Amino acid sequence: MNTPDTIAFSETKSWQQQLSEAISSSEELITYLQLPRNLKADIDQAIGSFALRAPYAYLQRIKKGDINDPLLKQILPISRELVEQPGFTADPLEEQQANPAPGIIHKYPGRVLLMPTSACAINCRYCFRRHFPYEENTPSRQQWQQSLDYLRHDSSIHEVILSGGDPLASSDKQLAWLSQQLSDIPHIKELRIHSRFPIVIPDRINDEFLAWTTATRLNVVVVVHCNHPQEIDEDVLNCLRRIQKNGLILLNQAVLLRDVNNKLKTLSDLSQRLVEAGCIPYYLHLLDKVQGAQHFDIDEAEAIGLHRAMAQSMPGYMVPRLVKEQAGKSSKTII
Ligand SMILES: *Cc1c(COP(=O)(O)O)cnc(C)c1O
Ligand code: SF4
Repeated sequence: MNTPDTIAFSETKSWQQQLSEAISSSEELITYLQLPRNLKADIDQAIGSFALRAPYAYLQRIKKGDINDPLLKQILPISRELVEQPGFTADPLEEQQANPAPGIIHKYPGRVLLMPTSACAINCRYCFRRHFPYEENTPSRQQWQQSLDYLRHDSSIHEVILSGGDPLASSDKQLAWLSQQLSDIPHIKELRIHSRFPIVIPDRINDEFLAWTTATRLNVVVVVHCNHPQEIDEDVLNCLRRIQKNGLILLNQAVLLRDVNNKLKTLSDLSQRLVEAGCIPYYLHLLDKVQGAQHFDIDEAEAIGLHRAMAQSMPGYMVPRLVKEQAGKSSKTII
């Protein structure tokens, strides 16, 4: 029998299959990663507020038995998430008020977020969308027309950012259809794809994906989300290079997370590794203050210190912009 350990994922399984086999129970997580059994009750408590989800392609990069692994920290539900803390809320960015059509968030001039799906390849515990009412925001075909009309009627919009959820959880057939609809709107120039798939299930970047992204007249910009150099194994490296070699613009955004990447060495190694893969570090985000993510928070002074140390020791193009999002602002705030 094949155990997950012995399967060569990239050769044997489609990305859809890998996604559907992602683990979702404390039992599977503890067994596969050889974690202490006594974590079970704690994990189960936290799962009630935000589900556990991690595919094996990601889990295989986590060191077995190490509860401090920086990749594990990003997916491990812990009961501390349930402790309320002042200043941390369910909708810190007030996005639920900038929702003019189904699946659309229009807060920043010239560009809109479009959410084709609520699904993700992985559930990141620090996610600021963990409380977003996705059920109301996963458009049907009919609602798509409403969203597309919104884009057609506002000629100030030149960029559509596919976000989510994770837009690459949708099929290439759906995405190719959507990109065709968007390219028929003359004022739209850029199609941006914000996705963690290339990092989590690198097999997602297959021939079908490259076919529609290279055929469209739109400038396609792929923004991946990678927080730690250990996330970039050989499969991820090859996946990123493939995106870049096909002429798509490739950028990374990371979130600054306590006990995951709040060290100069980790952040420097991340930038180095990204550039090796053909990916330019774009943003380093301060954590959005969402209920349940308090334990990842870094204070601004520490963040500024780390960022300054990066700028003093690395080429400028390897230093991401340090930003935070503030409700009601018309862009991210550069710190
Ligand atoms: C982050 C974000 C964007 C994109 O911002 P850029 O600075 O262009 O990367 C657009 N809309 C919303 C609501 C965002 O949160
Ligand atoms: S992949 Fe992105 S949207 Fe999905 S849980 Fe992680 S941070 Fe949130």
